[in-house]
Amino acid sequence: MHPVPSSGDGTRCVHGGRPHAGPGAPTHAGPVLSSTFDLGSGPDLPTDFYGRAGNPTWRAAEAAIGDLDGGECVLFASGMAAMGAVLRLGALKGDLVLPSDGYYLARSLALAELAPLGVVVREVPTGPPPDAAGAGLVLVETPSNPGLDVADIAAAADVAHAAGALLAVDNTTCTPLGQRPLELGADLVVASDTKALSGHGDVVMGHVSTRDPALAAALRESRSRSGAVPGPMEAWLLHRGLGTLDLRLARQAENARAVAELLLTHPAASDVRWPGLESDPAHAVAARQMRRWNGLLRFTLPSVEAVGRFLDAAQLVASETSFGSLRSSADRRARWGDAVDPGTLRFSAGCEDTADLVADVARALDSAMDSAT
Ligand SMILES: *Cc1c(COP(=O)(O)O)cnc(C)c1O
Repeated sequence: MHPVPSSGDGTRCVHGGRPHAGPGAPTHAGPVLSSTFDLGSGPDLPTDFYGRAGNPTWRAAEAAIGDLDGGECVLFASGMAAMGAVLRLGALKGDLVLPSDGYYLARSLALAELAPLGVVVREVPTGPPPDAAGAGLVLVETPSNPGLDVADIAAAADVAHAAGALLAVDNTTCTPLGQRPLELGADLVVASDTKALSGHGDVVMGHVSTRDPALAAALRESRSRSGAVPGPMEAWLLHRGLGTLDLRLARQAENARAVAELLLTHPAASDVRWPGLESDPAHAVAARQMRRWNGLLRFTLPSVEAVGRFLDAAQLVASETSFGSLRSSADRRARWGDAVDPGTLRFSAGCEDTADLVADVARALDSAMDSAT
């Protein structure tokens, strides 16, 4: 059946949610695409009855991700669908305390759709635990996207719980292999699985995990009512991608370290942040609560034009938003309205050979300096 909790990350990624098939059953089952299920002739509903309420392909992926998160997982159609369910749940209990420097659409959703209904929304920067008085939900994002600042999850949980609020942690940048917020005291972990968890740049998906059965039931009901449901094909692709997460993260972290060390020595780059660097201001807290590093870093080039030259010259670095994919990529975050320098890039180290990626980025940084081209 499912791997025992003492299994390593790689084993759990490969075997999670994949029980022994039994004689004659497919050992690599495909997605169940049917929107309806046989209700039978008796009075009781079977587990699966309608595609918006439940699906065996979702449950297989949820079993695997829930095992890694250490809770019950509820898949959603996207990271923002998952975030929407969490924010609505929190707003039923009190004010929403959100990171001012985290993923911008979480704030935007709360401000545009919940604040007009009377929900108090407070924004606080990632760092020391926020003031949680009156809060129904405190959300922290750590390391934050795109700033890569780090919040102390256990300290945030203490503050939130003392105020009677739930703590939710956006764990997108880490994945459950990199950080287990539920073990650190969070009530909810929310993530965009569009990023490293699916890992191939071909799925939009999200999830929430919790140890509280009542919260899990509320999330499943919210998903069914709102219709924020993942397609079975996408859930199947997510589960397939998860199988290699351990391997991908290892290479991405190795590449991120090499790129970050190059950036520290290159005159074109400033403001380099990767929590795995011993010199990073967030390293101590990150090292205490994270289980392993990942491929996401940030740095700043002198101008928007320098960014353009960098992206033109880099052959292995795609200019795209999103991160955590096999291929390295970079995204100029000021384009999206993040409060960062116009030349700040969020860089996602992919799974290329380290020497190839470092050589390519070094060439591109040299080109970024060269204002004649
Ligand atoms: C991408 C992202 C989201 C939103 O997820 P989608 O799958 O794009 O809806 C939420 N939080 C963080 C930190 C993200 O990076």
